[in-house]
Amino acid sequence: MSDITVLGLEGTAWNLSAAIVDEKDVIAETTATYMPASGGIHPREAAQHHANHIARVIRETLKKGGRDIDAVAFSQGPGLGPCLRTVATAARALALSLAIPLIGVNHCIAHIEVGRWKTSASDPVTLYVSGANSQVLAYRAGRYRVFGETLDIGIGNALDKFARSVGLPHPGGPKVEELAKQAARYIPIPYVVKGMDFSFSGLTTAAQESVKKNSLPDVCHSFQETAFAMLVEVTERAVAHTGKNEVLLAGGVGANARLREMLGFMCQDRGIEFYVPEKRFMGDNGAMIAYLGLLMYRAGYSTAISDSGVNPNYRPDDVEVVWL
Ligand code: AMP
Ligand code: MG
Repeated sequence: MSDITVLGLEGTAWNLSAAIVDEKDVIAETTATYMPASGGIHPREAAQHHANHIARVIRETLKKGGRDIDAVAFSQGPGLGPCLRTVATAARALALSLAIPLIGVNHCIAHIEVGRWKTSASDPVTLYVSGANSQVLAYRAGRYRVFGETLDIGIGNALDKFARSVGLPHPGGPKVEELAKQAARYIPIPYVVKGMDFSFSGLTTAAQESVKKNSLPDVCHSFQETAFAMLVEVTERAVAHTGKNEVLLAGGVGANARLREMLGFMCQDRGIEFYVPEKRFMGDNGAMIAYLGLLMYRAGYSTAISDSGVNPNYRPDDVEVVWL
C-alpha cells in the first residue's frame, strides 16, 4: 500500500497555513500570516485575511505537493470563531470537490502529535504554551488529559498584552525576551498557581504597574522569571503525578530560550528527557493539522459534514484518542 497523504488546514488565529504530509515527512507547506496594523489580533480582520488568502494557499500547496491526497484535515477548534469558520468552510468545499474524507482535528492535540512525530518523545507530559492556550497535558486511559491550565489568558497573550501596553509592537513575546537580557535585578511579581492551574492576568496588570517605577528590562525579566516558574512548577508536578519520564514543549512561546532553559534544568534534576521540536513545528502550522489528520484517517476516523461545525472552546480531553 502506498503512503497515506493528507492535506491539513490551520487558521485558528494569526497564522493561515496549508500543508501536505505523508507518513514520513512534510511534502509541501504554504503560509500566509496576518499581522494586525495596530494593537492585538482582531478576530474579524484575521478571518478576512484568511478568506482573502485561503484559495491561493491551498492551490500553491497542492501544486507543490504534486500528488493526490487521501483526506482533508482542518482545525475544528479551539480558536477564534470567525477564523475557524472561514477555514472550515474551505476544508468542507475542498473535501467535497475532491470526494475524499474530511477530518476535524483538535488544535491542541495536533501540537502534541507533531511534537511526538518530529522528536523522539513517545509518551510525554506536554507543556503547550501559545498565544491563547496554556495547558499541561498527558495521555492517560484513552485521552489527552489536562493536568493544569490557565484560569484566564494564555501566557503568549499575557506577554503580548504587557508588551503592547509599554508601546512594543505585536507579537510582544520575542521583544520581552530580548529586553529581559538587559535586566539588572528581579522585582517581585505575583506568582499565581492554584492547585494545578495558573493565572496570568493579575501578573500582567502588576507588571504594567511596575513599569511606572522600574526599568522596562527589569520588569520584562521579572515577568518571564515569575510566569515561567509557574509553568515549570505545574509541569513538574504533572510529571511527578503521572510518573512519566519525558517532557515535550509545544506552542509559539516555546521559542523562548529562558523557558527552555528552566524546563531543561527541571528535567535534568529529575533525570528525565526534555524534547523541543524544530521551531517551524512549535507555533501554529499546517503540518501538525495534516499529521493528526493522517493518524485519525489511518485509524478509520472521518468527520461527517453534519458534524464538522467548529468549536471555539474545543477541549483536548473531549477527544477520544482512536489512533494510539
Ligand atoms: P502560537 O499561538 O502558538 O502560534 O504562538 C504565538 C505566541 O508566541 C505569541 O503570543 C508570541 O508573542 C509568542 N512568542 C513567540 N516567540 C516568543 C518568544 N521568543 N518568547 C516568548 N513568547 C514568544
Ligand atoms: Mg497553537
